[in-house]
Amino acid sequence: MNNVVVIGGGVAGIQSAMDIANHNIHVYLIEREPSIGGHMAMLDKTFPTNDCSMCILSPKMAEISRHPNVTILTLAEVEKIVGEVGNFTVTVTKYPRYINEKECTGCGDCITICPIEVYNKFDAGIGVRKAIYKPHAQSIPNIVVKDNLHCIECGLCYGVCGKDAVLKVTEAKVETLEINASAVVIATGYSLFDPQKKSRFGYLRYPDVITSLEFERMINAGGPTTGNLRRLSNGETPKSIVFVQCVGSRDMTINRNICSCVCCMYALKNSMLIKEHYPDCEVSILYSDIRAYGKGYEEYYQRAIDAGVKIIRGLPGDVQDNGKGRLVLPVENTETAEFLNLEADLVVLSVGMIPEPETVRLAKSLGLPLDDHQFLSPADMKLDPAGTIRPGIYIAGAALAPKDIPDSVMSAGAAAMKASIDVVRSEQ
Ligand code: FAD
Ligand code: SF4
Ligand code: SF4
Repeated sequence: MNNVVVIGGGVAGIQSAMDIANHNIHVYLIEREPSIGGHMAMLDKTFPTNDCSMCILSPKMAEISRHPNVTILTLAEVEKIVGEVGNFTVTVTKYPRYINEKECTGCGDCITICPIEVYNKFDAGIGVRKAIYKPHAQSIPNIVVKDNLHCIECGLCYGVCGKDAVLKVTEAKVETLEINASAVVIATGYSLFDPQKKSRFGYLRYPDVITSLEFERMINAGGPTTGNLRRLSNGETPKSIVFVQCVGSRDMTINRNICSCVCCMYALKNSMLIKEHYPDCEVSILYSDIRAYGKGYEEYYQRAIDAGVKIIRGLPGDVQDNGKGRLVLPVENTETAEFLNLEADLVVLSVGMIPEPETVRLAKSLGLPLDDHQFLSPADMKLDPAGTIRPGIYIAGAALAPKDIPDSVMSAGAAAMKASIDVVRSEQ
């Protein structure tokens, strides 16, 4: 049987896998995390429609998990790819879940009893999880994972599991799989800029300076504060919130002149959500240009203004503590030449999208070129944006460049079509 390997189970990888599988071609969907879903699973609502992110993603996640032509491998990473179009050998390392995947029902009794709490990556660091955990309620596969780095082997979960599904370290091992594939789609997405590199904005120095992804988790009803906005310094509800745009994007001082494409729109989205939930909260967005470039996006920007969001042209010099428990942002409004000292209870840094470090490694091992910002380079940016210089290897979603969800899904469809053609050709 001719397979396609899709690397990365975010919205782009899921869409590519679905489109290929619907052509009656078998797909291996390789995801390094314990659940598929990628960044979209972490978001609250999604611009430009303000749909609840998981309400639209989780049916797709469930559908792909039941698709007869799809094998999902989680906790898995591609080590190497050799061969050529029509006949690649993809070597995959599958890390143990320390759970008997066939027996676990996902009931969560083991999670309840586990005494260890650690930083939760899925909540972008502002929530905790147990040493045995499910990344989130709609995880696929809908079973738990044991984190042996933090487990103290107290044994409580072994005793409580009626299915004897929890495994000891010695009962599971790393596996290596070799998959034969006619084509490969790289859908490994993006990472986020580390705002500590712009130390003047006070991230990790002031608890009330958070990133946009942390904000998404905070305003999400399934997140660590059950959707209630909180100052991390004292747990109070913020009365004024300032978004700072272009943190790690369009900034020559750190050699990143690239626009991250989505930050203006997600800041408009989140500012409107604040106004919906907390009409009295003052919300400002400090920007250098508002890039509302897509269909209906300009109207979305106007909706934010109508909702009472202050949109001020100018980026702050820094973020300081005013000595009375609030933050202050000195900024020049470059439209009115007015100097402001904006006070805020919460500052949200709209951090930019950067390339995924593992994609850079994979690209180098495959001889695929990278662009100036280390994103994957396509075969031709205008006429073949889903292709690479290597026949049979394609790019989907934000692995190519910063992209929103509609553009990621579109590019995923293009990559799927090209990979499917390779399978058909290799069968002729
Ligand atoms: P990702 O979501 O990053 O998925 C990539 C997947 O690949 C992940 O599951 C990852 O674990 C996996 N992976 C990575 N490397 C490997 C590897 N080596 N091996 C195996 N697996 C790997 N867009 C909108 O349209 N509307 C919005 O409202 C919106 N809000 C946003 C808010 C914030 C704060 C941010 C940061 C972004 C927002 N976006 C929004 C953009 C949106 O997140 C992206 O468009 C979308 O997630 C891109 O999907 P993707 O599948 O390409 O990448
Ligand atoms: Fe339930 Fe056992 Fe699975 Fe934990 S390991 S979720 S207790 S079935
Ligand atoms: Fe938690 Fe480990 Fe104890 Fe299980 S054995 S309950 S995972 S600490």
